[in-house]
Amino acid sequence: MRSTLLILALGSQLFAHGPGKDGAFGGKRVLFIGIDGCRADAVVSAMERGLAPQLKMLSESADGLLTRQFYAGGEIGTPTHQPTVSGPGWTSLLTGVWLDKHGVKDNRFIGGRLQSYSCFMRHIKEVKPKAFCASFADWPPIHDFIADGSRVEGKEFLDVKFTCVPDAKRHFVDNPEKDVEVRDEALKTLRTQNPDTMFVYFGQVDEFGHGATDSRANFSPDSTLYLNAISHVDSHVGELVRAVQARPKFAEEDWLVLITTDHGGRGNGHGGDSEAERNIWLVAHGAKLPREKLLNELVPQTALVPMIYAHLGITPKPEWNPEPPLSVPEEKAK
Ligand SMILES: [Zn+2]
Repeated sequence: MRSTLLILALGSQLFAHGPGKDGAFGGKRVLFIGIDGCRADAVVSAMERGLAPQLKMLSESADGLLTRQFYAGGEIGTPTHQPTVSGPGWTSLLTGVWLDKHGVKDNRFIGGRLQSYSCFMRHIKEVKPKAFCASFADWPPIHDFIADGSRVEGKEFLDVKFTCVPDAKRHFVDNPEKDVEVRDEALKTLRTQNPDTMFVYFGQVDEFGHGATDSRANFSPDSTLYLNAISHVDSHVGELVRAVQARPKFAEEDWLVLITTDHGGRGNGHGGDSEAERNIWLVAHGAKLPREKLLNELVPQTALVPMIYAHLGITPKPEWNPEPPLSVPEEKAK
């Protein structure tokens, strides 16, 4: 009797923990982690000083990389040019297009055209209705405007949507705690569900850059408080990556991990066209990354969504209005 129970328990556990190659995309999955307002030279400095060991390990492992040839803000002097702020930045990262298409100029999202240029997870559900898509954020506009704005006739496409609302009365001083809640919910999903794509957003680095959490901090590799915030988020990244690796059928799964930011910063602000604001970074880990392009060419932040589609083997429909991909999956390249 005991052994029967044990088998039943194990059976249900395996079922809950992963179908391996039997998933919606043959075992291919995506973990996209967003760290708001994380300046490129600061993240590199944090890695060099041993304050971001998880990002360093991921970028230096066999299938990993770090590039600083990544940029926000669109093309200066063209209609794609957009301010280096969160609204347009995350919209570009989650839709794969710039301001001329998505229409989001600032954090008010007025004029946004998310119905025409939608969050990539809506499109994933469109081609694979059984795919499991999850999103976690402590900056509510990620869900209120970008995800919900992408819904067709109000129909939800996210299987998990966890919004942790910072307490405005505390002027975001609770932001590090909210990141912990975001991390824990994301861990729960990795351990109990079979997410095909996950987006996990952490807000505290930007809040420290603005001096909102501690007035002595700013967007700079010289700000100890700013680097410490990066370090905290780095530990969250480590927990998420370990949860991925601990999945029982991890060996059969093929994960693409992407970690980036929406913009850099200067002093206590951002929004302009300086290198410190436009120049961003990408840590990526995956068996078939377009390494040459990522490492040797300037790559726009709009390139992430096409990379996700390529990894999952999705050919974007013309009506999604996608930017051209950096690489084409082998099966499709013939
Ligand atoms: Zn931001």
